[in-house]
Amino acid sequence: MTDWAAAGPLAIEAVSLQEVSLPLVRPFVSSRGRETQRRFWLVGVHAGGVTGWAESVAQEEPLYSEETHATLHQVVVAHLLPRLFAAPLAGPGAVAERFRPIRHHPMAKAALEMAVWDWYGRALGTSLATWWEGVRPEVPAGVVMGIAPSIPELVDTAGARAAEGYRRLKVKIQPGWDLEPLQALRQALPTMALWADANSAYTLGDVGHLAQLDRLGLGLLEQPLGPDDLLDHAALQRRLATPLCLDESIRSVANARHALQLGACRAINVKPGRVGGFGPALDIHALAYRAGVPLWCGGMLESAVGRAANLQLASLPGFTLPGDLSASSCYFTQDIIEPPFQLTAEGTLAVPAAPGIGVTPDEALLQRFSQGAVEWHRP
Ligand code: MG
Repeated sequence: MTDWAAAGPLAIEAVSLQEVSLPLVRPFVSSRGRETQRRFWLVGVHAGGVTGWAESVAQEEPLYSEETHATLHQVVVAHLLPRLFAAPLAGPGAVAERFRPIRHHPMAKAALEMAVWDWYGRALGTSLATWWEGVRPEVPAGVVMGIAPSIPELVDTAGARAAEGYRRLKVKIQPGWDLEPLQALRQALPTMALWADANSAYTLGDVGHLAQLDRLGLGLLEQPLGPDDLLDHAALQRRLATPLCLDESIRSVANARHALQLGACRAINVKPGRVGGFGPALDIHALAYRAGVPLWCGGMLESAVGRAANLQLASLPGFTLPGDLSASSCYFTQDIIEPPFQLTAEGTLAVPAAPGIGVTPDEALLQRFSQGAVEWHRP
């Protein structure tokens, strides 16, 4: 394991927040609403001539988590930056400890923590995957399909994605858009790994309806119930053969531990940006790996910076299921790196091998999509 002490303590000189807005190829519809652009903060942590990068995952409205694009900015500037600047960091693992007095806000914490990890990876000249002893140079790619205008359109898109080489399709579902579209997909693509993601659109009262999904041979059903409903998820899992996977419910290491103890899921979708950063994500990986519960890395429609970060994590041994990790062109006509992420002939994405997260945003492309940038210097 790489020793972060080799890079020495990190005295951050400046932190930049650049607002970026990338138009989506087509609107992305889920039970939480409709998105037409991916707006995020690109965080830069600057010290010693090295910049560590990370991308925020909070959305415009608090429909996925209570954090938003605006609250993230506010918490970072008012509460996290002063703590980051207060004294040099012994290593990336020290960031979570520094932020511990601040309750919750895992997305805000992750945006800075992940940039610090990237800084250390670049300073040490090692990719994060190598540092963490990842075992996978390539990650099987999966793709997410939003709620489509009609079932034939969904089936068409699914067929196109299968032809592109994706190994697993995940479909957003909600009441009124679940059994029929999934049945149609199952008929059209009988051997394709098929998952469904409800983004908390159901309640335990729907158990009879959800039990009908068992005959479709789904790989998993993601987050059918509310983010705080671990007990209800455990009760639902006892009634379903389909494995449940948790996403919104897992916002901390403690959430993951409780979910595993309760039997609330048989898989976990780990998004480092949702759980407070790479440190907590590594801890969740260790817990689930010991428990024999498979992991996969989800996505928040990230640009290449967030995608590269997710790929580093997905190289770890416990990430045995295909992630929501797809080519840039699935969501964007133009990403912020050149060349963009592309699918290999084997239906995988390569884990970038360069230091840190392995990609660096392209200055000209950033300029094109930037909504403005601010930089704070250590007092
Ligand atoms: Mg999800």
